[in-house]
Amino acid sequence: MRQVYLDYSATTPVKKEVLEAMLPYFTEHFGNPSSIYGIGQDSKTAITNARLQVAALIHADPSEVFFNAGGTESDNWAVFGIADALKEKGNHIITTKIEHHAMLHSCEFLEKRGYEVTYLGIGPDGRINLDELEKAITDKTILISVMTVNNEIGTVQPIKEIGQIAQKHGIVFHTDAVQALGNVPIDVKEMGIDLMSMSAHKIYGPKGIGALYIRKGVRISNYLHGGAQENKRRAGTENLPGIIGFGKAAELARLHFDDHVKHCSELRNYLIDEVLKKIPDTAVNGTMEYRHPGNANITFRYIEGEAMLLLLDAKGISVSTGSACSSTSLVPSHVLSSLGVPVEDIHGTLRFTVGDFTTKEDIDYVVETLAEIVERLRGISSVNSKKGW
Ligand SMILES: *Cc1c(COP(=O)(O)O)cnc(C)c1O
Repeated sequence: MRQVYLDYSATTPVKKEVLEAMLPYFTEHFGNPSSIYGIGQDSKTAITNARLQVAALIHADPSEVFFNAGGTESDNWAVFGIADALKEKGNHIITTKIEHHAMLHSCEFLEKRGYEVTYLGIGPDGRINLDELEKAITDKTILISVMTVNNEIGTVQPIKEIGQIAQKHGIVFHTDAVQALGNVPIDVKEMGIDLMSMSAHKIYGPKGIGALYIRKGVRISNYLHGGAQENKRRAGTENLPGIIGFGKAAELARLHFDDHVKHCSELRNYLIDEVLKKIPDTAVNGTMEYRHPGNANITFRYIEGEAMLLLLDAKGISVSTGSACSSTSLVPSHVLSSLGVPVEDIHGTLRFTVGDFTTKEDIDYVVETLAEIVERLRGISSVNSKKGW
């Protein structure tokens, strides 16, 4: 059976070049980077190189890149590290209602410990309102955290403008750029970013490795305590193969950025056009203007997304409902709710994300299969409604 993976925002396959770069670091180049002898120093040199590769992708200085276990750890580090370092200054954090749970749940944890958090809403286009952001700032505000690209609807926030506001008020600005990395241009200096979360497995690198960008001069407490790794900022023996893989993936993302964006946006647009043309009662959620090049978030009215997802899976097609992270919960997506999508429509929503290995034939197969499945499910539900269910 044909297998079509359209969930690149959940994770990506490791590219062959990335795997090949990693492999020697499991076996012959296994030295501990903290060891003084030769094979230890070889590992250290390899990490230095990977740090350069990641820094180049975001226009940072390599000394500002701190490897860790990925996007979740980076978000936690940013929130708890700033809350601790600046507790004398204040206890107020500004974020948005549409952040990843790594951010939202970290903020909720702090709320239980006396911190105050303002959750900004979004407009019909999925973006925050800059005046509202500025009005939310108080003399107790210690952190502004707004994600660069949303993982469900793909909306890109006005990061540079947010950076300017944060700078004007002397507040630390963090952005979760896990979905943005490799998909929208990022220049931490130009955008005024102080802290930025990254993850390798969303850019064709391995899982369990990522980094927090910390602008030189930003005061932030450490999150993990122990050895002197990562310039004494993040303890624990380095995930050496992971770091090498992340570095390679970052280099590929930088070199192939334009091709990647063109490939994804063409196929994504083709998918959206075909679905809207061939399947009635469908709608795209979120703006097309400021959007992740691979993201299509589509509502199919009058049917259940979960039912669609399972029938698609039976045809070899992998997609996700509103949020991949909600796959075990029945709570409707907090992002689509914030966007004002009615609850019944949220339940009929699927997220499709295309990537480098997606082909036009894949999209044709998906649209054809979707049309059949939607017709079948709507047929069933209209029978049900006639029976008064
Ligand atoms: C995937 C994702 C994360 C979590 O990253 P992990 O490396 O899987 O922990 C955080 N934020 C966003 C926006 C994501 O898409």
